[in-house]
Amino acid sequence: MIPITSLKLLKHKALLDRLPKDHPQYRYIYDKWRQFESGQVGEANLEYYLKRAYLDSPQFLNGLRFEHQSAFQIDWLLLDLGYRIILEIKNYTAPIYFDPHSRQLIRTKAGEKEVFPDPLLQVDLQYAQLRRFLDEHNIEQLPTFTAAVFVNRNAILELQDYPNRHRILTAQALPSFLEKIARKHPAKISPSRNQEIVSFLRNHHQEAHFPVLDRYGIKWSDLIKGVPCPACTRFAMNRIRQRWQCPFCNERSSDAHLPVLFDLALLSENRITNKLAREFLGTASPEVIKKLFQRAPLIRKGNNKGAYYKHVDLIKYL
Ligand SMILES: [Zn+2]
Repeated sequence: MIPITSLKLLKHKALLDRLPKDHPQYRYIYDKWRQFESGQVGEANLEYYLKRAYLDSPQFLNGLRFEHQSAFQIDWLLLDLGYRIILEIKNYTAPIYFDPHSRQLIRTKAGEKEVFPDPLLQVDLQYAQLRRFLDEHNIEQLPTFTAAVFVNRNAILELQDYPNRHRILTAQALPSFLEKIARKHPAKISPSRNQEIVSFLRNHHQEAHFPVLDRYGIKWSDLIKGVPCPACTRFAMNRIRQRWQCPFCNERSSDAHLPVLFDLALLSENRITNKLAREFLGTASPEVIKKLFQRAPLIRKGNNKGAYYKHVDLIKYL
């Protein structure tokens, strides 16, 4: 299944919420998070334009990722009854020059030049990989088109020298691009078959393995421990008579530990141990943790000393 909110984003947020602001890596991780977030917003905004096109019976998949030979991810895949379209979404700002010889994009921002790979090379590679995947699962091929969509209104696309410019689009140009293809490709499969294929693809989605602490070389000991107060957000609440109590604003709560468990699941690739929970909930007793676990949306895995817990909201992905 494809998560509604990107797990990569959620993991970054969980990490930032517990990383001290003066940590040497904080700024870098924060910038990464912002970058992923704006990418996600760009992809989500595109849905509006996708759904404005008059098409037969289209199905849309956002963020589909497979691990097949090598891993590949498709920003948007449109599957209709007579054709398919793969879209690579870019959220770049500032003037971008498309160099037809180097197959690179050159962005000039505040006098500085930055180079990006040609998105059409990326999306064509995705198509080759998708083709192979469909073949191996005996799914019928349909004429498939690829394009890159620049969703940021402030991007100025310098395409004058670029021979494939008809496949470089702005979001506003997308509906008519789709309709043109749809007109030339009448239905070859039934709506129910198309639905079946979409379900198959969705079920084969694989989340990227992204252990966020390892990725940035952050240690568990670098993180802020404790249960934050749901009212004033300060660390940390005390456990008093089977409830959490905030020493700053006196807020009391019986379930303030639940978001902490979800964050620990994100930070540990969904492998929460009793010891880890003890450390982060600030409770010395394994028995207290056991009781909290029993009433939390967690599933026990492994046995005895190797026991750990998985959060049910993440079990489909991690
Ligand atoms: Zn408080």
